[in-house]
Amino acid sequence: MITDDKMTISLVNTAFESLTGYTLQEVKGKTPRILQSGKQDASFYQNMWKDIRVKGSWQGEIWNKRKNGEIYPERLTIHTIVNEEGIVISYFGVFSDISHNKVIEKEIEELTFTDTLTNTMNRHTFYEQLEDLIATSTENSEHAMLVVDLDRFKQINETLGNEVGDFLLTEVADRINSIVRANDLVSRYGGDEFLVTITDLNFQKDAVHFAEKLNKQLNKPFYIQDREIYITSSIGISFYPQDGIEVETLIQKADKAMYFAKQNGRNQYAFYFDELQTDAERLLLLESELRKAIQQKAFVIHYQPKVSLDTNQIIGVEALVRWANGTLGVVSPAEFIPFAEDTGLIIPISEVILEKVCMDIVDWRSRGIQHIPVSINIAALHFQQDDFMERINAILTKYNCSPQLLELELTERTVMEDSESIVHKLVKLKRMGFKLSIDDFGTGYSSLSYLNRFPLNYLKIDSSFIQQMTELQDKQAIVDTIILMAHRLHIKVIAEGAETKDQVKLLKEMGCDIVQGYYFSKPISSAAFLDFLELWEIHKQERTI
Ligand code: C2E
Ligand code: MG
Ligand code: MG
Repeated sequence: MITDDKMTISLVNTAFESLTGYTLQEVKGKTPRILQSGKQDASFYQNMWKDIRVKGSWQGEIWNKRKNGEIYPERLTIHTIVNEEGIVISYFGVFSDISHNKVIEKEIEELTFTDTLTNTMNRHTFYEQLEDLIATSTENSEHAMLVVDLDRFKQINETLGNEVGDFLLTEVADRINSIVRANDLVSRYGGDEFLVTITDLNFQKDAVHFAEKLNKQLNKPFYIQDREIYITSSIGISFYPQDGIEVETLIQKADKAMYFAKQNGRNQYAFYFDELQTDAERLLLLESELRKAIQQKAFVIHYQPKVSLDTNQIIGVEALVRWANGTLGVVSPAEFIPFAEDTGLIIPISEVILEKVCMDIVDWRSRGIQHIPVSINIAALHFQQDDFMERINAILTKYNCSPQLLELELTERTVMEDSESIVHKLVKLKRMGFKLSIDDFGTGYSSLSYLNRFPLNYLKIDSSFIQQMTELQDKQAIVDTIILMAHRLHIKVIAEGAETKDQVKLLKEMGCDIVQGYYFSKPISSAAFLDFLELWEIHKQERTI
């Protein structure tokens, strides 16, 4: 393109015509302003003209507009042509369309700066951007760092496959992106963990609002391959500058808060506080001590009797693991079992437990006690292993124990997916001779459809209902209804956690079949259980409700 000294176009070549879509006739006499895209501001052009005046030329990238309205990037060089006196008589512009280069550049940039799966910033970019943010923060700036970790994502990945897992992660990223503001930072930090920085808070409670909003977003169902999937997340929050002024520290502290939220039952958020530092150390210790305990098979099994309200007989026991550790003291299964589920350690732990139970069954048999079935708790992750049945069978065979003496307790959450494969697995277990029960009934995703699809023997009403039912009318109504419903489906009902005579009486009136709870006995060692059994036979009439 050639213009005169007033920037009036005098000549363009055919390359110009095909690139911009304008013919020579259309642009002759006009100024290059007809190509302007509006993407550069006035100061851009001022600088450009300054260069041209001072150096006699300018080179750079500029966004222009074609006749059809399309905006495109071009690499442009402008030269001035002067006469003998040094006066500008015309301008001379050469440019080329670089949109193709731009596309490639963008792809390269995305590959190095974003997480390719979710299109959010990758770890490296997130660090850099947060460092920049901190560097430019003023004395009054306050930001929140959130570590968002999906609960039980591992299970979803293992049961439904990586493809579903990947899809879920992109959906989660979209939902996070849909509620952040333009200046906030979002990154998939790795696996199922996302980092979000809420910048420039007015109040710390803004971060709370955000966390609540996020949990609400994530609790809505995801639709993947004709399935409806529910997930929850645990969120940890730290604040700049209160908890730290370095990226690393902020992430670490938010991470610890996230673990705290998980331990507290998941699907919630938690703030960092100083005592958490020691909690995190405890978790590290817990993991290494658990690994040792697995090696040494250092777990002990206690047994809690179940009493039939009909016959007043001990009709079974539940095996409950106990772990006393030299360094950590007695650690409750309520603490280490969920932790073991998260870390995958539950698989070897479950096998140690099953072995010990088998050994006790063999021991009881040698003492003439052959009729007491033992129920064991099956963790979700364990149940979902492909070779679950083979491995259980291998242990039973090793100790010559029959499945008839074993009852498997699965929680609602483990079987929440009413899928064909789960039904199939349960039917197979039942055929092999195992009895099946649903544990903690009433606390999970109460999809009732599985109750008649699954071949269940027992349903265990969660202790929270039993313990409150003598005071709270609505809890009593729930227990009553569960019993009725289960009986309709020919499933027997076990009430868990009955502590008082009143509770047991009420349960009997409502038609409950079996009771397990401190009222009859706490979980006790195998030796103590043998004594208990003897005494029970002697005094059982007196204990009739
Ligand atoms: P769960 O399977 O629902 O076990 C019942 C829990 O209620 C046991 O707690 C038991 O000690 C307690 N309990 C029984 N009767 C009463 C009562 O009258 N009052 C009160 N307050 N509590 C009562 P525990 O042994 O601490 O176990 C907690 C949970 O840890 C179990 O809940 C189960 O989910 C898990 N767990 C325990 N042992 C094992 C195991 O061997 N394998 C697996 N996978 N999980 C286990
Ligand atoms: Mg149980
Ligand atoms: Mg239970």
